[in-house]
Amino acid sequence: MSQKVRVRFAPSPTGPLHIGGLRTALFNYLFAKKNGGDFVLRIEDTDQNRFVEGAEEYIIEALNWCGIPFDEGPGKEGDFGPYRQSERKQLYKSYALQLIERGKAYYAFDTAEALDQHRKDHEAKGKTFIYNWHNRQKLTNSLSLSNEEVKNKIAAGEDYVIRFKSPENEALLLNDIIRGEIKIDSSILDDKVLFKSDGMPTYHLANIVDDHLMQITHVIRGEEWLPSLALHTLLYDAFGWDAPEFAHLPLIMKPVGKGKLSKRDGEKGGFPVFPLTWNQSEGYREAGFFPEAVVNFLALLGWNPGTEQEIFSLEELVEAFTLERVNKSGARFDPEKNNWYNQQWLQKTSDEELAKLFAAQLQKKGIASQPEYVRQVVSSIKERASFVKDFWELSDYFFKSPTSYNEKAVKKQWKEDTPGIMQEVSELLDTIEDFSSSKIEETVKSWIGEKELSFGKVMPPLRLVIVGDMKGPHLFDIMELIGKEESIGRIRTAIAQL
Ligand code: GLU
Repeated sequence: MSQKVRVRFAPSPTGPLHIGGLRTALFNYLFAKKNGGDFVLRIEDTDQNRFVEGAEEYIIEALNWCGIPFDEGPGKEGDFGPYRQSERKQLYKSYALQLIERGKAYYAFDTAEALDQHRKDHEAKGKTFIYNWHNRQKLTNSLSLSNEEVKNKIAAGEDYVIRFKSPENEALLLNDIIRGEIKIDSSILDDKVLFKSDGMPTYHLANIVDDHLMQITHVIRGEEWLPSLALHTLLYDAFGWDAPEFAHLPLIMKPVGKGKLSKRDGEKGGFPVFPLTWNQSEGYREAGFFPEAVVNFLALLGWNPGTEQEIFSLEELVEAFTLERVNKSGARFDPEKNNWYNQQWLQKTSDEELAKLFAAQLQKKGIASQPEYVRQVVSSIKERASFVKDFWELSDYFFKSPTSYNEKAVKKQWKEDTPGIMQEVSELLDTIEDFSSSKIEETVKSWIGEKELSFGKVMPPLRLVIVGDMKGPHLFDIMELIGKEESIGRIRTAIAQL
């Protein structure tokens, strides 16, 4: 088949995009790009009761932030628009009527109260009420009523829905690219409502009609839609249309393994489950994740490249991605692994880029800084960081002299003879013309040798007075960066204070 690959991401704008939804979008994007196809965004907003203001904008912004923009969708009209189902609502009814004509669907007039009563009666007997082949002849619909009665009811303006007429006793063979063949007995299916009394289609009808009209070739969506696959397959048959291929992605599981990942897991574990901040819930973007890292870890949630490679750019993912390598079983969400991915992507980001991000944070703290100086600081501390927001704690002493000293370290390092030694070091530093790391190191080390002092008597207290703590990169690098005057000044302050 030389048909152009077309996939769609079809969220309902009922809230922010959950991380699982974002992964669905990503896998659609990867599959489209891998196959030279189109990635369509369709907004499934037929349920007006669940509509949430701002959700559509949020979804679009999240996709853009991740670098996986759609090719066609709201605001990017292609040949298959409009892309919001609410703007297509006038076209669905004729499809529902088509199914009635073909004997594949029927009008049902049962009132909400009547159905409720059936449900209650069944419950009382410990049973569940399903509306399908086994009882539809006894309920109020166009299968049990005469044509005349049906016409009269419609003419009188009675409320009705249109239900799918699920076949009895058919062995259905469903196909899923990830799961293979699935066998189902059609007798267990209920007669789902396709068209509601408020004049709107249900998800099932609108979804199938739009996938057909938008020439979708592959439906890639979450496992929670697998139970709808039988109905969807039957609907394509009923219309006489070719069905697209289906791929149902595995669930994303809680960090502990069992159960679906929820918003509450994020709140409990202190990690984001949304790409961007939504109300009180911090997003990956705001938490300081790089979009590349988010894309990278999401891709490996349920998919594997078949090699040991873990770090992938978006381009590499497009190259490597196949639906056949998506797992059937749930993918455990590991927030620590996500941090690791960010750490890896931070190391791959240029010092210039990181310095810009850090400079913005410094500015917020009211600290003036030179771009080149910030770049050098970043270069010396970044390997210890997972996030740009870690930088300040790792490097504050590059921007201000210590105002206090780690007490434990003082007890351990600050001996009776230390002030004298530090005094001599400060005088020694004053003699160095070229105040470079290597020159300082050479000078201090040979001085230690001449004086027959131990390194332990000089280096740890020297770090303590320069940094205020025992942390940080190579001490002479720090001294070069903060400069001669500042280094000597810090030693003097410490002698006076300790
Ligand atoms: N509107 C559905 C959702 O919110 C789309 C499911 C599908 O992709 O078929 O996930």
